[in-house]
Amino acid sequence: MSSGLGAGLPLETGVPGVFLSPPGFERVIGLLRDGIAALTADEPFHRLVIPPVISRATIERAGYVAAFPNLLGTVHGYGGTPSGWARLKPLVESGGEWHAQQQIGDLVLLPAACYPVYATLEGRTLDEPAKVTVEASCFRQEATSEPGRMRSFRMLELVTVATDEHCLKWRAARLEQVEGWFTELGLAVSVEVADDPFFGPGRKVYQAAQRMQELKWELRVPVADGTVQAVASANYHKEHFGETFGITAGGEPANTSCVAFGLERLAMALIARHGEESTRWPVDVLAALGGGRRA
Ligand code: ATP
Ligand code: ZN
Repeated sequence: MSSGLGAGLPLETGVPGVFLSPPGFERVIGLLRDGIAALTADEPFHRLVIPPVISRATIERAGYVAAFPNLLGTVHGYGGTPSGWARLKPLVESGGEWHAQQQIGDLVLLPAACYPVYATLEGRTLDEPAKVTVEASCFRQEATSEPGRMRSFRMLELVTVATDEHCLKWRAARLEQVEGWFTELGLAVSVEVADDPFFGPGRKVYQAAQRMQELKWELRVPVADGTVQAVASANYHKEHFGETFGITAGGEPANTSCVAFGLERLAMALIARHGEESTRWPVDVLAALGGGRRA
């Protein structure tokens, strides 16, 4: 494109892991939303749009801070006086530490789309499985920025909160369905037991336990230049969130499962496979994306 602003792939901003999306890329994200909506039409999901921030207390209680302090983005603000700021203000121009008095606030940047759902269900007794789809902009302070690894990215998740039996069956069925969907989309998918990148002492033990119990499955596909990334994960958290937030199902602490799609990674994978011009993709691929009728 003559403007140099690109057509299909995200544009670099000069800051690692932060991109601008041109219309061609957004069209693919839209097609993915359509495809996932078609995929999930077989169950009555509540659809929620989630803001990119979450209560710090929630994310502390959920265990995220303890496990991933390196990935969490905190939100700080200036709580001082105007005269205090008069002393700090010149430091903005001189490149000094104007932020020395910034204080942590009651919100943090959302690291994954499903957390707000568990907190919202706090204290409930569920007579039937809760089923929710959520989409949110997420932030993770990633240490590397290889293709597909961003700091700001969008996650679309299917979440269920219910008994252990339901959550395990549901996740297995959805995992199989999503693997089949990726194959229809022409993506070379591998499904692998995975673990989360816990931080600090004890991480090897946590990771081994997570793998042994098969709590996390990843669906991995090539996203660009031969780089393979997880484009989705299917997770079972046992009673972790049910206990933390006092949610009950079947007379016990509720269990939870989620299937999380990384929208940017998936869009990159489709573009790597079928090209930047999504209106010209094969008919069967467009059919698997809700018909491909997006503007
Ligand atoms: P990875 O192993 O690549 O770090 P993860 O296991 O931490 O990913 P999940 O927490 O399962 O990822 O998040 C769900 C999905 O969100 C991932 O499968 C991926 O598609 C997407 N995702 C996660 N982190 C990033 C990122 N830094 N940039 C872009 N997409 C991401
Ligand atoms: Zn989740």
